[in-house]
Amino acid sequence: MSAHSENTSGARMAAPVQPTADAAAAPALLDVRDLHVAYDKVEAVSGVSVRVGQGQIVTVIGPNGAGKTTLLSAIMAVLPARGDIVLAGQSLIGREIEDCVAAGMNLVPEKRELFSEMTVQDNLMLGAFHRYRTGLRDQDQTLAEVYELFPRLRERSGQLAGTLSGGERQMLAVGRALMAKPRLLMLDEPSLGLAPRIVREVFRIVARLREMGVSILLVEQNARAALQVADYAYVLETGRVTLEGPAKDVAQDPRVIDIYLGLGHGAAATN
Ligand code: ATP
Repeated sequence: MSAHSENTSGARMAAPVQPTADAAAAPALLDVRDLHVAYDKVEAVSGVSVRVGQGQIVTVIGPNGAGKTTLLSAIMAVLPARGDIVLAGQSLIGREIEDCVAAGMNLVPEKRELFSEMTVQDNLMLGAFHRYRTGLRDQDQTLAEVYELFPRLRERSGQLAGTLSGGERQMLAVGRALMAKPRLLMLDEPSLGLAPRIVREVFRIVARLREMGVSILLVEQNARAALQVADYAYVLETGRVTLEGPAKDVAQDPRVIDIYLGLGHGAAATN
C-alpha cells in the first residue's frame, strides 16, 4: 500500500503519488510522474502523477481552472513541463509534439481545432500526415476504419467541416486523431457544449475505442458520465491530485458525490 489514506469508498486521498495496486493491475502505457507546468512563474500543475494502464480508460475530473487542459497539453508537449512523461517505456519529456505522435499518443483538444474551410475527408487525412511523411501508406485502410466507427462522417465526407453540427465536429476531431493510429488517445472535454443525446453517443464511442485496443486519458467536467465509463479516476483540484482510485470507488466518495455528482453536475449523461 502506498502513502495514501483510504476512505470508506476505497478511493484514496492522494499523497505524492505512488502507483496504486489498482492502477498497477494493467501494464503502464502512460506513466506521468511529478509533473510541474507553469504559465510564467505561476504553476498550474504542481507535482501531478497520472498513470494509464494498457487498455484502460482513465479520467481526470475537476472544476474549471483545475489544470486539466494544462496537464493534457503538457503531456502532448504543447506546453513545456518538468517531471517525467513515459509512454510505453519511452521518456518524452522535453520532446516535440511530433515525437509524441510518433511514439503513439494523440490529443483531441477542447476547441477541436478543425479546418472549417476544408472538407471532412481532408481534415481526416491531415490527421495521417505524420504517418504519411514517415513513409507509411496505410491511410486508406485507416480512413475506412474511421468511417466504420463514424458512418456519419462518411456521409458527410465531401462537406466542409465548418458546416457540421457540434456532435459531428467532435466526431471529426476524434476521427482525425485516430488517423494517426494512437495507442493512447487523450480527450479534452469531449462532451463540452453537446446535447445530452450526443453526449451519450460520445461516451459510447469512448468505450468502443477501448474495445478496439486504444487506451484513453479522458478529461471531463461531466464527472458522472466520465466515472461511469472509466476504469480509474483522478480528481484534480488547483493543480494537484486530491483523490484517486478505481472509478467506481471515486464515484462513491462522499466529497465527490457532494461536489461533482450532485444535482446539476453532469446530469446530461443520465437523461
Ligand atoms: P477548464 O475546464 O475551465 O478548461 P482546466 O481544469 O482545464 O479548466 P486549465 O485551463 O488547465 O484548467 O487552467 C489551469 C490554470 O492555468 C487556471 O488558473 C488558468 O487560469 C491558468 N491558465 C490556463 N491557460 C493559461 C495561459 N495561457 N496563460 C496563463 N494562465 C493560464
